[in-house]
Amino acid sequence: MLPVDEKLKDFYQEIIRRNQGEPEFHQAVLEVLGSLGPVLAKHPELREHKVIERICEPERQVMFRVPWQDDKGTVWINRGFRVQFNSALGPYKGGLRFHSSVNLSVIKFLGFEQTFKNALTGMPIGGGKGGSDFDPKGHTDNEVMRFCQSFMTELYRHIGEYKDVPAGDIGVGAREIGFLFGQYKRITNRYESGVLTGKGLDWGGALVRKEATGYGLVFFMQEMLKARGQSFEGKTCVVSGSGNVSLYTIEKVQQLGGKVIACSDSGGYIYDENGIDLECVKQIKEVRRGRISEYSKSQPRCKYIAGGSIWDVPCDIALPCATQNELNGRDATSLVKNGCKFVAEGANMPTTPEGTKIFHDAGVAFGPGKAANAGGVATSALEMQQNASRDAWTFEYTEQRLADIMVGIHQRCYETAEEFGTPGNYVNGANISGFIKVARAMVALGLI
Ligand code: GLU
Repeated sequence: MLPVDEKLKDFYQEIIRRNQGEPEFHQAVLEVLGSLGPVLAKHPELREHKVIERICEPERQVMFRVPWQDDKGTVWINRGFRVQFNSALGPYKGGLRFHSSVNLSVIKFLGFEQTFKNALTGMPIGGGKGGSDFDPKGHTDNEVMRFCQSFMTELYRHIGEYKDVPAGDIGVGAREIGFLFGQYKRITNRYESGVLTGKGLDWGGALVRKEATGYGLVFFMQEMLKARGQSFEGKTCVVSGSGNVSLYTIEKVQQLGGKVIACSDSGGYIYDENGIDLECVKQIKEVRRGRISEYSKSQPRCKYIAGGSIWDVPCDIALPCATQNELNGRDATSLVKNGCKFVAEGANMPTTPEGTKIFHDAGVAFGPGKAANAGGVATSALEMQQNASRDAWTFEYTEQRLADIMVGIHQRCYETAEEFGTPGNYVNGANISGFIKVARAMVALGLI
């Protein structure tokens, strides 16, 4: 990240003033502003059009009450959100997050990042994000269904295949998308497949979507390794989290000859020096919705460390795939000290600004989430294509499309970083190239 340009400093103060109590949103904006100084020097017309000011203000933000009843008949009230950030490149597109930590700041940071990420994919999709402070963990299927039905009873009026296309994120997988789609179909009396992505394979979903964020992350890392004349072969990797992104990151790393020795959940992490048994983790997480601590019961050679930082495990490659700000300055220092040379983010904004600086100063190759984890949303756009043409592609073809998209994103970031005088800095490459694409479209569409 470059020091923030003088003019942008004032603007950043204004962002803080107008969006009080939203630290995650401030952090995401600052990270992008840090890359934009040289862009404004090269494209003064963007300043005239106030493109940065416009891009930082969501086009529309919706907050709503979500009342629902648990199995005992007790009434609960949650809060629902949908932030429609930018539609210059296409309908708003981005996931729904159901987690107790969700608030307006979190949804705005995610929607902001999504706008640049989606631009980087090269697909015709704008940026948005939504969710609720409801956590499906610990609830029965029936309770989750009632919550989803209530959530969609408000959300349906704001979305549509040409308007806004939600998908999954933390806490929203195939089960939740099913209940949401069912309620949308019921209320609108339309089988509008393209209104949601991440659907089940029997009812409009696309092959590879489930695997796409993790696989895409590994394809991106493969390009980062190639750029330094290396490969996954024989490398040790640490992957935080054990949700959808982590599981399919581990799967693809293993397929490419790397060894994943640790993964985690919010309770702690497992360390298995012979390599994680992925099928066992899938059983625990995908089938039983259990805790990662259960792994050590069936795998006696593995260690379970409750609490503790997974980033203290020595590795060649670190892939943070859990959640925002999970890797701080202390963790980055520990990784660097233990010889880690490559980091790419499967989660959104998992590394704190301090952590990112430590990686850059130490010469670690660092792939930011908005580039490295864009495979998920890119494959959502492929699902939309299949829905629009009433078609279904094979796994092999779709995976190849995903791989090509990730190679393209890496190339764009790499070349842009070079063009703007910071070779090897993927943060600048991603921010600048995503920003320019959205900015050009916004100027072309007039003052809207
Ligand atoms: N939630 C994912 C992301 O952060 C995917 C969004 C989508 O597929 O629309 O990019």
